[in-house]
Amino acid sequence: MFQSAIHRYLDTHKHNTIPLKAVLFDMDGVLFDSMPHHANSWHMIMEERGLHLSKEEAYLHEGRTGAGTINLICQRQYGRNATEKEIKDIYRAKTEAFNKMPLADRMNGAWEVLSKVKRDGLFSMVVTGSGQATLLSRLNDNFPNIFKPELMVTAFDVKFGKPHPEPYLMALNKGNLKANEAIVIENAPLGVQAAAAAGIFTVAVNTGPLDDKILLDAGANILFPSMQAFCDSWETLLKELTNVKILA
Ligand code: MG
Repeated sequence: MFQSAIHRYLDTHKHNTIPLKAVLFDMDGVLFDSMPHHANSWHMIMEERGLHLSKEEAYLHEGRTGAGTINLICQRQYGRNATEKEIKDIYRAKTEAFNKMPLADRMNGAWEVLSKVKRDGLFSMVVTGSGQATLLSRLNDNFPNIFKPELMVTAFDVKFGKPHPEPYLMALNKGNLKANEAIVIENAPLGVQAAAAAGIFTVAVNTGPLDDKILLDAGANILFPSMQAFCDSWETLLKELTNVKILA
C-alpha cells in the first residue's frame, strides 16, 4: 500500500532499510486538537490591531515562531518588520487569548496509536515549537507513561524552529537515532518541511483546512486524512517500513 512511497524515500536518501526505533510526534494538530484555538486567537488578536491574518492562513504558518508570524504580516501590510514592542504586545495578547479558550481535547486516534507504538517495541518523542510551561504535565495527564522529559524537543531547545530541520535533527540526537530509524508525524506544512529536510520519512496527517497538496508539496512521503486513519493503518505501515530492503 505504501511501498512506492517507501522506495522513493530510500532512493532519495540512499538508505537500504528502515530499522525503525522511534516515532516523532508533533503536538498541536497531531496529539491535541488545539489548532482551531490557535488559529482563532491569532485571527482575533491581529484583527483587533488592524492586521489581517485569516484563520486558514494561520494554519499555513503553524510552527513558525510568534515573532516570525508577526513580522510576516507586518511586512505584507506595512512593508517593514514589526517593532520589538509590537511583537511583545501581539504575542502576549495571542497567548492570553489562547489560554482563555477551553483546553484542547486529545486528537481522536492519538492515544491509541501511541499505545500501539509502545506495544510494538518502539518509543515515541514529542517535537514541538510550543514552549508552554505546563506542557509536560499536560502530556503526561493525557498520555500517561509514554513520553520522557529527556526525549522531548520544545521551544526551549531550539534556536531556529520549523521549517528549519533543527528541531528534528535535535530529536534524532536526543534519541540517539539515525534519520532512517525514525518517522515523523506532522500536520503542518512547515513541520513537514522541517522533517523532510532532516531526512526523516514524514507522515502528514491532514487534520486542518489546508489542501492535501500543500502538505505533499512540503515533502510528506505519505498522507492520511486524520490521526484515526493513521492509527488504523499503523500495523500495515509498520510492516511495510520494516520489511523493505534494497539490495546493494
Ligand atoms: Mg502541528
